[in-house]
Amino acid sequence: MTDSSAPARLRVAPSPTGDPHVGTAYMSLFNLAYARKTGGQFVLRIEDTDQARLVAGSEAQIYDTLSWLGLDWDEGPDIGGPYAPYRQSERLDTYRPIVDRLIEAGHAYYCWCSPDRLAQMRKAQEEAKQPTTGYDRLCWGKTREERAELPGFSETPVVRMLIPDDVELSFTDQIRGLISAPRPDDQVILKADGFPTYHLAVVVDDHLMGITHVVRGEEWISSTPKHILLYRWLGWEAPVWCHMPLLRNQDKSKISKRKNPAARLLWFKEEGYLPQALRNFLQLMGYPPQADDAEVCAFEDFVADFDWAKVNTVGPVFDVKKLDWLNGHYIRSLGDDELADAICAHIDAYQSDELPGGLTPRAREVVREAVPLIAPRLTVLKEALGKVRFLLCEDEALPVDADARAKVATDAESVIQASIEVLSGLDEFTTDAMHDALTTRLVDEMGLKKKLAFAPIRVAITGVLVSPPLFESMEILGRESCLARLRAFVA
Ligand code: GLU
Repeated sequence: MTDSSAPARLRVAPSPTGDPHVGTAYMSLFNLAYARKTGGQFVLRIEDTDQARLVAGSEAQIYDTLSWLGLDWDEGPDIGGPYAPYRQSERLDTYRPIVDRLIEAGHAYYCWCSPDRLAQMRKAQEEAKQPTTGYDRLCWGKTREERAELPGFSETPVVRMLIPDDVELSFTDQIRGLISAPRPDDQVILKADGFPTYHLAVVVDDHLMGITHVVRGEEWISSTPKHILLYRWLGWEAPVWCHMPLLRNQDKSKISKRKNPAARLLWFKEEGYLPQALRNFLQLMGYPPQADDAEVCAFEDFVADFDWAKVNTVGPVFDVKKLDWLNGHYIRSLGDDELADAICAHIDAYQSDELPGGLTPRAREVVREAVPLIAPRLTVLKEALGKVRFLLCEDEALPVDADARAKVATDAESVIQASIEVLSGLDEFTTDAMHDALTTRLVDEMGLKKKLAFAPIRVAITGVLVSPPLFESMEILGRESCLARLRAFVA
């Protein structure tokens, strides 16, 4: 076992097969934490050996989302490093001689069975309810010529591992202790297209890249016996295994992009979660807070205290409400300017089509001024536009909610006329001055209840009954705009 205090080398190894999964960030976070804790390195490797499943743009999204989360890697395809290349499709020359070595040693063999034959074989096994299924080794021990005589022959062979009877099925996992997995099939390690499969490439690269700890999702436990065999055959020391729990939906099913939008890392950006909130949230997945009331935790503190023994293997439930709460916390810990920048960047990236002409310089200024008004009740950045929209729209284009208008109809006419008079005569168009003068006129002189007195003004100015603080908003809009809206309301 590797010395637990030595600098560790860890990696995350996503496959660019679609937009990145939240699990990739989760794995990166724990890998990175341990690398930082031990003063070691965190490597990003792109596992693109399954050419049929590659999705254009996916690799760039992996870089973007992990960088956005501040999960920075020390070596990777984009920045290089001492073990480059870090993209498996560029390492084919490395894998081939190792496959040949395994064939020569009798640990692996060519298989010419066509996909049709394999499908038929599987069907027959199922129908016969055979206790052991898997490849029937038709090709094992045969030359190409011998095999070509038999049905279901394909010109381009694959290479399979010859799983021995004494394959070790139990292994020690740093998180789970001694665990075991079912007996593997004669796994394909080199495909007909000349690319290795994941199982070979992952072992070769983890070894050659000096990876000391393999930290990955629990779905890989069943593959580990195959990987351990490869290490044994090749005479290499196996890494420490750490299989993390899978993230789960509320109903305990595995989180998937099909069922849960939160399985997509990009969803968090689109919704307007702050990276520090998502990172903090992932720190709490299957891992206890440092104290009951210490769920808010900086990455540095998480690292300082990090210990594999604390990982809970019961699949953590992905509770977006908790994330909302954390996001609100982080939003409110930003300075006003930082929050304004974040909101504007979010609108630019995801909501500009909801705002004719996008964010003009004046609109950015308005957002900046409105931040103190909207920050207290903001959960995600995407909500900000809805809250400030009335400040950004032209006075004549302000949509006024029909229900809101109906609710305030009784006193509206007299309240608005009086307000226009009061506001026109104010020396300074400030929150306090408006509040005092309107209270004097509407409440003291006209005898209206405070709530009733201001509601029509709110609807006229904002278009709705519930809005950010009224007089502060009016100060941002300015006198001319406010008067125009009041006049339009009664017209
Ligand atoms: N390429 C694998 C994946 O995308 C990596 C698994 C591992 O970390 O070994 O899940």
